[in-house]
Amino acid sequence: MNVIQTLGLSKTYGGGTFGSRVDALRGVSIDVGAGEAFGLLGPNGAGKTTLVKILLGLVHPSDGSAMLLGEPAGSPTSRSHVGYMPERREYPDFLTAAQVLELFGRLLGMDKGARSRRIDIVLEEVEMSSWRNHRVGGFSKGMQQRLALAQALLPDPQVLFLDEPTEGIDPLGRVSIRGILRRNLEKGKTLFVNSHMLGEVELLCDRVAILVKGQVRREGPLSSLQAPNPEYRLVLAASDEEARSALAASGDEHEALPAPPGRSAWRLSVNDRSELNAALDRVRQVGIEIEEVQRVRASLEDVFVQTISDASSEDSEAGLPGGARLDQEPDTDAPNMADGPTPTSGAEPTPVSHSKPTPAQTNPEAES
Ligand code: ADP
Repeated sequence: MNVIQTLGLSKTYGGGTFGSRVDALRGVSIDVGAGEAFGLLGPNGAGKTTLVKILLGLVHPSDGSAMLLGEPAGSPTSRSHVGYMPERREYPDFLTAAQVLELFGRLLGMDKGARSRRIDIVLEEVEMSSWRNHRVGGFSKGMQQRLALAQALLPDPQVLFLDEPTEGIDPLGRVSIRGILRRNLEKGKTLFVNSHMLGEVELLCDRVAILVKGQVRREGPLSSLQAPNPEYRLVLAASDEEARSALAASGDEHEALPAPPGRSAWRLSVNDRSELNAALDRVRQVGIEIEEVQRVRASLEDVFVQTISDASSEDSEAGLPGGARLDQEPDTDAPNMADGPTPTSGAEPTPVSHSKPTPAQTNPEAES
């Protein structure tokens, strides 16, 4: 059974007598299986928050369906199996870690015995047992984040919705949060991650969907999205001229890259492994030694940028105004990705957007 399933989900805001209509979601169909880590990406205004709000039962869809654990999203049964870690985590400074969790346990309607048992367990899980009686006001950002994760884990949920789980914390803090999330995945929990930190999503998620203007433009396992065409980086012990003529004879697409003195480096695009080997044979036939062959994997950032730019061009061709604008979205305040993966394309991981799902206590009727 899919843990999350949406089918043709649409949401139009406004449209009353004076309000203008906004199609926030336009026929979104996604499936998330049990035990999966699913990443939802998209530029600002793509509809990510709206999708999460619908799944949490805070916003009603205009059309289509959203199911969580086989129940309509927002039903009491589906809500009881969901944990939610909001992006904004502000707890009163004067409360201790245990008191914060006690408060949330009460809000969730947990009885005294369950509260005390689960509070011990979740504090242990987020490595904060020794801080249980310390006031939140003295906690670092990373500790506050771990407390928010403890809050999300309190009801022992099957599905965890995480909004920017590693936002604003240092590399060690991110490693710690990632470790806690991985342990939850090993226990079979499902993660739905909403993040603009592409490097983090790459490290954590199995599958991603890229939402642009309310539509899923790309969706699938990270490996399949990242490797549309095999590309290789070759370093040859030859001058650029020698290497160029050898590669030109192969007919494969190739592009010069910066190389150390006495070497020549190339990015080679081929259709498959046999084409790569044929190209390498030709290089060797003319007496050039091969120093390095490395598969170049497109980073998630490359895929993301390409997807948005494709969507923009399609809109321009169709004469639609205002394609998704890349120049609008980077958040320069976002932390860098010092411990994220090194994209093989050489680009820095890019923060892409913020989304702010409303906490579960928010009144669903607040939507316009
Ligand atoms: P994201 O989380 O990807 O930034 P949102 O789901 O917040 O996207 O917004 C998608 C679109 O819906 C945007 O154009 C936004 O302005 C609009 N929108 C979101 N919430 C409301 C609302 N309550 N009333 C009217 N328009 C809204």
